[in-house]
Amino acid sequence: QREDAETELKNAKEFKGHDMLAPFTAGWQASDTNPLVIEKSKGAYVWDINGKKYLDSLAGLWCTALGGSEPRLVAAAIAQLNTLPFYHSFWNRTTKPSLDLAKELLNTFTATKMGKAFFTNSGSEANDTQVKLVWYYNNALGRPNKKKFIAREKSYHGSTLISASLSGLPALHQKFDLPAPFVLHTDCPHYWRYHLPGESEEEFSTRLANNLENLILKEGPETIAAFIAEPVMGAGGVIPPPATYFDKIQPILKKYDILFIADEVICAFGRLGTMFGCDKYGMKPDLVSMAKALSSAYMPIGAVLVSPEISDVIDSQSNKLGVFSHGFTYSGHPVSCAVALEALKIYKERNIAEVVQRISPKFQNGLKAFSDSPIIGEIRGTGLILGTEFTDNKSPNDVFPPEWGKFHLSFAFIFCIGAYFGAQCQKHGMLVRVAGDSIMMSPPFIITPEEVDELISIYGKALKATE
Ligand code: PLP
Repeated sequence: QREDAETELKNAKEFKGHDMLAPFTAGWQASDTNPLVIEKSKGAYVWDINGKKYLDSLAGLWCTALGGSEPRLVAAAIAQLNTLPFYHSFWNRTTKPSLDLAKELLNTFTATKMGKAFFTNSGSEANDTQVKLVWYYNNALGRPNKKKFIAREKSYHGSTLISASLSGLPALHQKFDLPAPFVLHTDCPHYWRYHLPGESEEEFSTRLANNLENLILKEGPETIAAFIAEPVMGAGGVIPPPATYFDKIQPILKKYDILFIADEVICAFGRLGTMFGCDKYGMKPDLVSMAKALSSAYMPIGAVLVSPEISDVIDSQSNKLGVFSHGFTYSGHPVSCAVALEALKIYKERNIAEVVQRISPKFQNGLKAFSDSPIIGEIRGTGLILGTEFTDNKSPNDVFPPEWGKFHLSFAFIFCIGAYFGAQCQKHGMLVRVAGDSIMMSPPFIITPEEVDELISIYGKALKATE
């Protein structure tokens, strides 16, 4: 304890009350407590400025798929920086890495045939781009009223105005006058939390599909442009779809000519043990968003893939409608594209989806063995992604009261059990994602069996301390 307190004090001298308006950080946290300052990474580990080592169970923000020290990604970045650090992709000028990456992504995504790729810097920009693409497409087809989007409660699609609107998390809407009026939200497909007594997973999926159809009919199918879904919901608490969910949703979208957007920002490139989440759940989207593991997060990059029908309309209608006036200075940044190309090469050479398949039973079963704990409601996940939801009395309806809290070593009161558990993990040398009464994990794909053992052991210690 003395060691922890000394570490806190050392940090306090340097960074307490720092100058950043930090993302998703409370003002009181930034001014009254010390940030955890990460200085270096290697494999599945990161170190803070005081030399303390942590197992990074969230792979940064669900993104450093190849861990923190893949020399081939560094070499790819340096080689591109030495050749051409930047050129843009506007007005039919572009660079070879961006052309090569577009081709490679179209070949890699096989759940449906895709026509063209658009590059962004992030997942949020990818989802904003989706909305503009779909609107442009419907305007080009002469159906200007078909503009509404349906997303799901508890989804996370980003934090720009449009992607935050699509997201189904109240914290992203409150105080920002969101969601935008063209966005509607339908049920969160979380079986454990929302199923009715005696309802099977299949019946639950049928009910949710019926609710979606009713929403479409109420709004008027001629007004609904697209439906967006993550294969496994990530930041909303790691929620895999219940059995038959996407089998039941997709025919409804087809029936009313509604485009299907798969937000693969977390799931793509192996996280679920398949190259894409769409492969795992039989999803046949018209548009796909990706980011994060696309470059293993070594450089910022996102991408949108669109079906040949959509790219044909956009290409052929631009004479009539005007060009698709959308893009970013760094769309197709050559260094980001070069790094992403190398990451894709590594995923293929190492058959990364199979690597994840092999390691994930140890990860999933090892952690799910804690399900009997009196403070755990549900542990859920697949592949290398897992969420733990803490509840009182093991019931989905008995959340812990908000005043539940304990004194934490950083001298700040923590008002929820997830934060206490997260602080315990941190104390024992592991970083997890905390969100209210849930904690989430998505380790790098390169995590070893010994590191999974360590992860499970720290989780166990933190749980014991929290119980
Ligand atoms: N979509 C999903 C499913 C995500 O999980 C995220 C980020 O976590 C985003 C979109 C937004 O990506 P970014 O933070 O790169 O803007």
